[in-house]
Amino acid sequence: MTLEQTATGYRSDLFIGGRWRGGSGERTFPVLDPSDGTVIADFAVATEEDCVAAVDAAEAALPEWSATAPRQRSEILRRAFDILTEEREHLAEIMVRENGKAFADALAEADYAKEFFRWFAEEAVRIPGEFRLSPNGDKRIVVTHQPIGVSLLITPWNFPAAMATRKLAPALAAGCTVVLKPASETPLTAAYVVEVLTRAGVPAGVVNLVTPERVGPAVERMMAHPAVRKLSFTGSTEVGRILLRQAAETVISTSMELGGNAPFLVLPGADVDLAVQGAVVAKMRNGGAACTAANRFYVHRSVYDEFAGKLTDALRGYSVGPGIDRANKLGALVSVKERDKVADLVDEAVTEGARLALGGRKLPDGAFYEPTVLLDVEHGSAITRTEVFGPVSPLVPFDDVDEAVRMANDTIFGLIAYVFGETGQAFSVAQRIDAGMVAVNRGVVSDPAAPFGGMKQSGLGREGSSEGILEFLEEKYIATAP
Ligand code: NAD
Repeated sequence: MTLEQTATGYRSDLFIGGRWRGGSGERTFPVLDPSDGTVIADFAVATEEDCVAAVDAAEAALPEWSATAPRQRSEILRRAFDILTEEREHLAEIMVRENGKAFADALAEADYAKEFFRWFAEEAVRIPGEFRLSPNGDKRIVVTHQPIGVSLLITPWNFPAAMATRKLAPALAAGCTVVLKPASETPLTAAYVVEVLTRAGVPAGVVNLVTPERVGPAVERMMAHPAVRKLSFTGSTEVGRILLRQAAETVISTSMELGGNAPFLVLPGADVDLAVQGAVVAKMRNGGAACTAANRFYVHRSVYDEFAGKLTDALRGYSVGPGIDRANKLGALVSVKERDKVADLVDEAVTEGARLALGGRKLPDGAFYEPTVLLDVEHGSAITRTEVFGPVSPLVPFDDVDEAVRMANDTIFGLIAYVFGETGQAFSVAQRIDAGMVAVNRGVVSDPAAPFGGMKQSGLGREGSSEGILEFLEEKYIATAP
């Protein structure tokens, strides 16, 4: 189906070698609006042969693209930023429709997503190198960077635009060609972003888009293709482990942005109003479906009742409903299956003795779940060990800051943590937490100019910042005469 043929105007084809087309098996899969379960598009299914053709196209385009002047690549990315600035509402609407998120969350994501194009447009012309004399004076050490090669980019459904641009922008800035494989829940956003890049001037074959039905075998086949030298993956730790094993076969460089289980610490002496404000953002941004979402709240007993009361009050007034209605602050989860996972975790916590201060129910229609606050949750219970991915705030009281740090670090994950307290103490606690990112007295950290990524099983490598482009570059040392 082409853009012109769709009633909604959503492009729903594969993009291979500069051409929009259906899959060679001539099959489609439905894309659903999770707020009411309606089919909003039928997207082309990519066969394994289509996936291989996409890698072939990226391989064919690599020599010319990697040889383009950095300024030329930079200007294409900058144009993509300008287009998205013009069309941010349209991008937001696509995300609302296929992902279910609230309109304000979608607009915030559109703005975050486009910034990666601007940031890496600026980085494309600043790729570093070195030229120095060896210590014993026998040679010059020249260090250059070259594009790593054909890159496979795999993205999740929760931030369908930003997770794509956070990979596309540095890959293209570095001079790599790519195959993008979005989540099957949210292919329309990916197709739109790819279309924006073509309008900005990306040549044929540089960016390719595939949506296989049997993802595992199709991705494995692409990774076995000798041209693929990079895998940049954002998704669950479980799938990340599978891909790391597969990457070992052909020794592919990997960047892994995986799951989180973010602790949110409220220390004694914290400004409780500020902590509540931060908690609302850290928890409710994207309806809680964020790898950075505050997942478990450790609150010092001296401020516990006040924090619990004020957080509950702040969330009580949340309007829940279809994201397309801009009055709704909380949209749908991505699917009924995801919503049921959240509901099961809450039910289990309540059975184990946690008390519901707010919410705890599904809405009768659509994949909606109420904002929920759970009190007196046990550290170590399933809800504190599992990435909830929904609007649920489990509160655990603590008496001693060392104990809070121990509980915060008692996880296989290490993506992000939030610490609220008196500045000196909060900063020193931040240094003791095993996470790639720590927010001190604030509810959000993400910024294209800052390194995003996790420790432990939350990932490998960093996106954004100056590190982001290095993930798509290979360092080369040339020894020459002094
Ligand atoms: P997921 O791991 O199920 O899927 C992510 C992507 O991998 C999708 O495109 C999916 O189709 C693909 N995939 C699934 N099985 C595969 C396989 N066997 N081989 C290759 N690809 C496969 O994750 P999700 O449910 O889409 O997203 C939610 C997860 O993503 C959460 O764990 C969240 O924390 C994580 N996430 C992490 C970050 C970060 O930056 N660290 C950002 C957003 C989301």
